[in-house]
Amino acid sequence: MINVICSHDNFIYDVHSLVKAFYPGEDIKVVTIDKMEPSTCDGLHIFVDYEDDHSAIRIFEGSNLIICDDSEMVSYDNRVEYKNFLKKVLYISLSKYTGKQLPWGTLTGIRPTKIAVTNMEHGLSDDEILEYYKNVYLTSDSKAKLSIDIAHRETDILSNIHYDMGYSLYIGIPFCPTTCLYCSFTSFPRSIYEKKIDKYVACLKKEIDYVANDFTDRVLDSVYIGGGTPTTLTSDELRDLILYIKEKLDMSKIKEFTVEAGRADSINEDKLKTLKELGVTRISVNPQTFNQNTLDLIGRRHTVEQVYEAYELARSIGFDNINMDLIVGLPGEKYEDVRYTMQKVKELNPESVTVHSLAIKRASRLNKWIEDHGIECITNSDDIMDMTQNVCESIGLKPYYLYRQKNMSGNFENVGYAKEGKEGIYNILIMEEKQSIVALGAGTVTKRVFHEADNYRMERCDNVKDIDMYIEKIDEMIERKCKLFS
Ligand code: SF4
Repeated sequence: MINVICSHDNFIYDVHSLVKAFYPGEDIKVVTIDKMEPSTCDGLHIFVDYEDDHSAIRIFEGSNLIICDDSEMVSYDNRVEYKNFLKKVLYISLSKYTGKQLPWGTLTGIRPTKIAVTNMEHGLSDDEILEYYKNVYLTSDSKAKLSIDIAHRETDILSNIHYDMGYSLYIGIPFCPTTCLYCSFTSFPRSIYEKKIDKYVACLKKEIDYVANDFTDRVLDSVYIGGGTPTTLTSDELRDLILYIKEKLDMSKIKEFTVEAGRADSINEDKLKTLKELGVTRISVNPQTFNQNTLDLIGRRHTVEQVYEAYELARSIGFDNINMDLIVGLPGEKYEDVRYTMQKVKELNPESVTVHSLAIKRASRLNKWIEDHGIECITNSDDIMDMTQNVCESIGLKPYYLYRQKNMSGNFENVGYAKEGKEGIYNILIMEEKQSIVALGAGTVTKRVFHEADNYRMERCDNVKDIDMYIEKIDEMIERKCKLFS
């Protein structure tokens, strides 16, 4: 446990996120000085003192003062500037103490490209934006350039999306063959809910009816069926659901229809043929890794061979836009293991690849695994991330979206790479929050974006995660959306 003691409570969350970025495997407790207990001063503890125009960072090991830094602060009149500056002085002290540099510097939010997009909209040149990232957030050159590059690509890709009078649809299928070690999504083994699948799909249809009635004046730009693993549904169940969507909603203008096939152990010829026949334009076949030992360890319960078979099957059926999700930082995997996976990806040559840095989520079984085996079993580095980027670029895939999560291994990022014209539009929309997304199913979140002049904002409403509760309260779930969009 690392104790952090702040002089005020106004930036506690930001201080916590930054210290956590330096110490991803540790519990960090942040308190204000008035709530400090004597035990707070055991072990490693950090005082973050800020008072108008002055800040003082003190790092102690027990009673030994190791770091003692004082700085002049910027004016508090601009709260955001003040917060950014405080994070900068704290970063410098932590970096001095740990000897670490974080690739994203003080940036702890999940959408670093938003900074580039906003500055582009304000007319700044690429060089000016690069300097901004480096000066304000101490971001590394390569991450700042990556963000700017992606911001340009995103802007081009979204140029024909109906922001204000359009919407996208997300449908969640929260079932999987088994639960992966690192999973923190709304996902349950299908076997547990076998007898309730019909009821679940019936509730989805009820939500689709609501959309069909209330969104007649909006253009549907993209549909994404995710999860969980949508292909845990049988071929007949998939057909029934997709036919219903097509019958009720105007699909004539959609630019993308994705189904996350996901796990190789859920894919078969019948299902893929159904998806193709019903107009699905993009699917995911997600290996995560091509190392069988790792697949066994993370509980995927499928073989590498099944991934090849699913991929080849999808190709032979005619899919020309296949994504593959990978994870860097899986337990026990080092540079060479990731390089092996990337080599296999290169041979398969998919249209897009999403490289995730493993996120260590509280709700996942991975936490327990790390407790037993130690955080050092989770490896990620600049070299690994650069290598994944180089391999993607060697097969013509360019980075087109990027986001970060809390507690990512090595404090890195998730990056989507795609061939030109094969980018996942929905992936960008969900990150950039420029279009309303109506989300159906247990554990999904609907977001309404308001494009009023000088009042751009987003409001959201959630569907409950528990499947029984979702089925029981389906009318309330719909009512929540009605209210949000009224
Ligand atoms: S396939 Fe995805 S949603 Fe399903 S258990 Fe694994 S990580 Fe979770």
